[in-house]
Formats: sequence, structure tokens, C-alpha cells
Amino acid sequence: EGTGRFIVGGNWKCNGTRESVKALVEALNKNVPNIEKNCDIYCCPTFLHLPYVKDNLNERFNVCAQNSWVEADLVDPEHHYDSTTGAFTGEISAEMLEDLQVPFVLLGHSERRTLLGDTDEIVGKKVAHARYHGLSVVVCVGETLEERENGTTFDVIFKQLKAVAKEIDDREHSSWGSSVVIAYEPIWAIGTGKVATPEQVQEVHSKIRSWLAENVSEDVAKATRIQYGGSVNASNCADLAKLSDIDGFLVGGASLNGDDFAAICNASS
Ligand code: PEP
Repeated sequence: EGTGRFIVGGNWKCNGTRESVKALVEALNKNVPNIEKNCDIYCCPTFLHLPYVKDNLNERFNVCAQNSWVEADLVDPEHHYDSTTGAFTGEISAEMLEDLQVPFVLLGHSERRTLLGDTDEIVGKKVAHARYHGLSVVVCVGETLEERENGTTFDVIFKQLKAVAKEIDDREHSSWGSSVVIAYEPIWAIGTGKVATPEQVQEVHSKIRSWLAENVSEDVAKATRIQYGGSVNASNCADLAKLSDIDGFLVGGASLNGDDFAAICNASS
């Protein structure tokens, strides 16, 4: 069973010029009156555009960073919370996002896992560190086509979930529902136009929820929102939104169009 409150994210990825970002912000702001209330929304511009978007996007939308830095060898639990600000050229730390009052961060996107070396363990550490700095996290999980075909989809996803759950202290479980979102994104469906079938989505979402119930707690399983991501657009979102275990979408390509994104935010109505 889903949580009953939808959440939709727009991942702008490595896209945008000052001009196109301004136009997208205007298109989204224009759509605010058309977006129904029962939906939380976050938009993920690049770090470079984040301050502009935060200052200019209507507050109906939250802003979300696409990543945050953590030192790869932070394996000792006592050191999770050390400052990661310092000699890490080219990186952005959770402290900086906190300082800018960015409420969300996307972690473990498959493009970062496959192209930029984010392992399950690093994603877990990033989650711990970002949460310590008061950020809500959206954690992406999902299998490759090869993994789906060789029957290891759930091994992969459960391993990704375990690396995250391990980093969240029992005392923090009461805040999971409001501050940890899981995005199921099968890699073969991202940016390919090949959306997962409703049966595939429902199967994975319900197994993620059962995994949470068994490995974290029943309450966390009930409260955690599970988004689907992978080639969602304005025309395929309505059928997916009807599924009992779906709590929203993470949208890439279609989030760059203000009208399409607003339509996706309304998919559950
Ligand atoms: C994504 O990048 O998270 C994503 C789901 O992309 P797209 O919607 O373009 O498949």
C-alpha cells in the first residue's frame, strides 16, 4: 500500500543555460495554480543554477541538489559527521547545501553510480552525512537490463537499500517517512523511452516495501514514499499513478518542460 501522499521530482541533470533555466522557472511558476495540493515537489537544477532557482522558483516547489560530497574512506561510524568541507577540489558538501537552505538532495542516481563511481557504500555515507546536516534525501536504486534478465534485480536493489538502511540509526526511524524517499529507477528505463510496465513497477515497489518492513520496521515501510523513475512523461504517468504501491515519480527529460512536469505532478488526482 502506498503512503497516500504523492511526491514528484524533476531531475534537470547536466542541462541548462541561464536563459533556459530562467524560462523553465517561469513556465513552472505559471503552472502553480494548476497543480493540485496533495503533491510534494522538488526540482534538481545543477549546482551552478541552484541559487538562482531557489530565489526565483515559486515556493510550491522545493529545490534539490543532484549530489553531495562525502569522503570515500569515511568508513568509521564515528567519523560520518566530520566536516567534509576542505581540500576536495570541485566538490560541494552537505554543509554548503545546509547553509544555502536547500532542503533536499538526490543521492545514488544511476548516472553517478555507473559513470562517476558512487558505490553502494559511498551512497550510504552520503545519506548519513546529508541527513546529519538536516537534508531530506531521495535515494535512487535500480537494476541494469542485464541484471533484470539474469534474475538478480532484487539482489541488486536490496543490497543498495541495505547500504542506506545501515547508515540510519534506529533513533532516526521516526523521521524516515518525512525525510527519506526511495526512487526506483530501472537503469534500462532511464532516458530510453522504454518505461517499465505497471506490473514490473508494482512488483518492485511492493518488494521494496516488504524489505523495509522486514529489515527496518513496519512503520518505516508504511511511511516511506517510493517513486518510480524511467521515461515517465505526461501521457504514461496516469496509468502508473494508479498502482497501489507508487507514491510519485522521479522525472528526467519531461521535467524540462513546465507543462509536462505539472501534468505529471497531477497524475494522482
Ligand atoms: C532520471 O534521470 O532520473 C530519469 C528518470 O530520467 P528520464 O525521465 O529522462 O528517463
